[in-house]
Amino acid sequence: MRTLTMKFGGTSVGDAQALSQAAEIVLNCAKEWERLVVVVSAASGVTDSLMRGALTAASGDGQTYLSIESELRERHREVVRGLLPSSGESASLLAMVDEQLAEFTAFCGSIHVLGEVTPRAMDTIVSAGERINAGLMAALLRQRGAFSVAVDATELIVTDATFQKAVPLMDPTRARIAERLVPLLADGVIPVVTGFIGATLNGEITTLGRGGSDFSAAILGDCLDSDEVWIWTDVDGVMTADPRLVPQARLIPVLSYAEVAELAYFGARVLHPRTIRPVVERGIPLWVKNTFNPDCPGTRIIQEAENACGAVKAVTAIKDLSMVAVEGRGMMGVPGIAARTFAAVASEGASVLMISQASSEQSICFVIPTDTVPSVVRAIEEEMAAELRRRDIDRVWSMDEMVIVTAVGAGLRRTPGVAARTFGALALGDINVVAVAQGSSECSISLVVSAEDAADAVRQIHNEVILNG
Ligand code: ADP
Ligand code: ASP
Ligand code: MG
Repeated sequence: MRTLTMKFGGTSVGDAQALSQAAEIVLNCAKEWERLVVVVSAASGVTDSLMRGALTAASGDGQTYLSIESELRERHREVVRGLLPSSGESASLLAMVDEQLAEFTAFCGSIHVLGEVTPRAMDTIVSAGERINAGLMAALLRQRGAFSVAVDATELIVTDATFQKAVPLMDPTRARIAERLVPLLADGVIPVVTGFIGATLNGEITTLGRGGSDFSAAILGDCLDSDEVWIWTDVDGVMTADPRLVPQARLIPVLSYAEVAELAYFGARVLHPRTIRPVVERGIPLWVKNTFNPDCPGTRIIQEAENACGAVKAVTAIKDLSMVAVEGRGMMGVPGIAARTFAAVASEGASVLMISQASSEQSICFVIPTDTVPSVVRAIEEEMAAELRRRDIDRVWSMDEMVIVTAVGAGLRRTPGVAARTFGALALGDINVVAVAQGSSECSISLVVSAEDAADAVRQIHNEVILNG
């Protein structure tokens, strides 16, 4: 039994025309695959709007969420009117849209009264976007002659209670999928599953993190023993750089799991970083394809990719970062300072994206998201209070508006001179490198530059190292 799990991202289901195109793709694939599961995101911008509604309500604004409600209602109604005008289902679909948005408004009303929105409430609120789209896509497939039902992932994907970035619990998830999804597939039904969301064992709604529908597809792909997982998006596949930043970016036909994991981790939004793990463990080939150019084969992601296209395959950037430094002459040779520093960082739940190489033991530098800086600095100052008093540590400080630019490619460490060419590219562009990373794997080099240089740094590396590589 050949099984395919495919996911459509926000733009791919963003309006009537896109949904129609996505449905065509599903129907074509249904001819070739015996079991087919579809995962959908909310329409592009909807998750942002729902979040904005909740946040403005929490800050005392009683109007914005109401205008967001009417805007979203109109947007989804237009899809129903455009795609399913003659369908007997259109009334129930309009009612479904209304019901989801009425719930959103009711939640925002309570948040407005309380003056606060918890991560848990936020997850419940944003789940409406995916739920509406799963309903629309399943109805559209039915209208075009397929057997299809919308399935709420809160019934399938069981997670822990880390709201907004929940971790799936694979054993109960596997059991639920076997119980709920497999019988549908056996009956020739195409389930359309909500991306992004899940629920705890107690039934509280959770989300898998922004952009998490890719991860949902990988989890389903794993649990269904899919032969392949396809991610349909709005670009031809994984490119040598973000095409919005570098118009000359080219499609990369084949990448390894390790390379794409590195790209995703260092900011290439095209795949959610957690997508890789479920597929890599089972060796399931992952494809990234363009909904609006379905004849283009896209990018194939597999265990081992050949090194045909040069040592550096792609360049990415992550923004909104700060570099924190713990400095002092008295740190030299004192055991345990690094361990205590990072324990303090971890106690704040901040993720360290990069630790930079210091030439001496007089400082420890690391890069974290800017919004975590105040609590991290406070935690380190508390941990090191005695050392600060004794002046063994002079100061803990941060440099904001930093960006990590990463060049990725499995051949990188094996090819002499690539690091030098990468630095050379930046020197040519007169770009100052603030720090160099200790790569988290064998296939990337990361450099910290200031935010104002980030776009130039990406373009320089793209031109000098990838295109001329
Ligand atoms: P979706 O809603 O389909 O999940 P996303 O917006 O999350 O789409 O991801 C697709 C976007 O990722 C593209 O439109 C592109 O701007 C961006 N992107 C960033 N880096 C890359 C890259 N290296 N290759 C392709 N796209 C990239
Ligand atoms: N709709 C969610 C988001 O915007 C999930 C996704 O698009 O993958 O983050
Ligand atoms: Mg995405």
